[in-house]
Amino acid sequence: MSTRSSLPVIAVIGSLNADLTSYTSRIPNGGETLHGTSFKTGSGGKGGNQACACAKLSRSSTNLLTGSATVKMVGAVGNDQHGSMLLKDLQATGVNTSGVVVKDDVETGVAIIIVEESSGENRILLNAGANYSISPLQFEELQEPYPDLIILQLEVPVETTVQILRAARKASVPVLLNPAPAVELPEEVYEGLDYLIVNESEVVILCGCSAEEIEDVENLPTVGRQFHEKGVKNVIVTLGGRGVFFSVKGGENGLVEAKKVEVVDTTAAGDTFVGAYALEVVKGEFNAKSAVEMANRAAALTIGKKGAQSSIPWADGLGGS
Ligand code: ATP
Repeated sequence: MSTRSSLPVIAVIGSLNADLTSYTSRIPNGGETLHGTSFKTGSGGKGGNQACACAKLSRSSTNLLTGSATVKMVGAVGNDQHGSMLLKDLQATGVNTSGVVVKDDVETGVAIIIVEESSGENRILLNAGANYSISPLQFEELQEPYPDLIILQLEVPVETTVQILRAARKASVPVLLNPAPAVELPEEVYEGLDYLIVNESEVVILCGCSAEEIEDVENLPTVGRQFHEKGVKNVIVTLGGRGVFFSVKGGENGLVEAKKVEVVDTTAAGDTFVGAYALEVVKGEFNAKSAVEMANRAAALTIGKKGAQSSIPWADGLGGS
């Protein structure tokens, strides 16, 4: 039997990476060496960023102890400086990290990130490290008390993600899947999936359509239908500066335009979107369009600042619409 605390519980099961970020006026060509304009080491990883987004967006910067949701991180780091930094930073935003295992035999995951300052665009090379030590065997059954929502990405082994989906389905726990970085997935992943949040390049890989097709918004309802036919209830396609498309199985669909903001660094825009959307899911009386509008607004604030977790707004920084 599942016991509920007074606050809804979100469990993020996924990656924790140290982000080593170089900022540059332009991306170097193959074989070319360039001086960057600045360098920063920070906490990241899609799992960590999304847990941080859920925690920050549900709490005021002046009171970390209470918020509108309890956020638990489940993952793995190495017994090293990067691992300590990741745990400390998550705890400082109010995330419960008791589900993060510290491993002696592997290094913490690392992401090498290059941000082109003129466009705000990023390029990322991942080294999975401890994230790939998370085994499907850990998730044969979900541990009680069950969370109200599980958030998954694809920076841990795919077989682990598939096993968590099976266990969640058995326990009737809703899942939000952000299949990033995208790889072809077994069909069972989509069966009964509650929330799927994908970006444009992920749609191309998962649907087998071309980037040109996704450019044309007229084609997006077909993309939505394709995922609904596989069993997904809510499909959300984030379109960067173009905004977001959403489609509800048997219900409405539509496009929400992106906020007009200055782009400084798009790192973690997608993760902020996921965190804000997840909070709308667990708060009750879910409305698909309002959830997307809220997430669109939160993500726009993130791209106005440099960094990953540090650029995600707190609840008191969201302001009005
Ligand atoms: P990430 O850079 O974190 O990997 P992503 O590729 O997963 O991001 P995007 O589709 O680029 O996700 O962006 C997610 C959301 O962030 C968009 O749907 C939108 O709400 C917001 N966003 C991204 N870029 C812009 C922009 N240039 N202007 C306004 N909002 C934006």
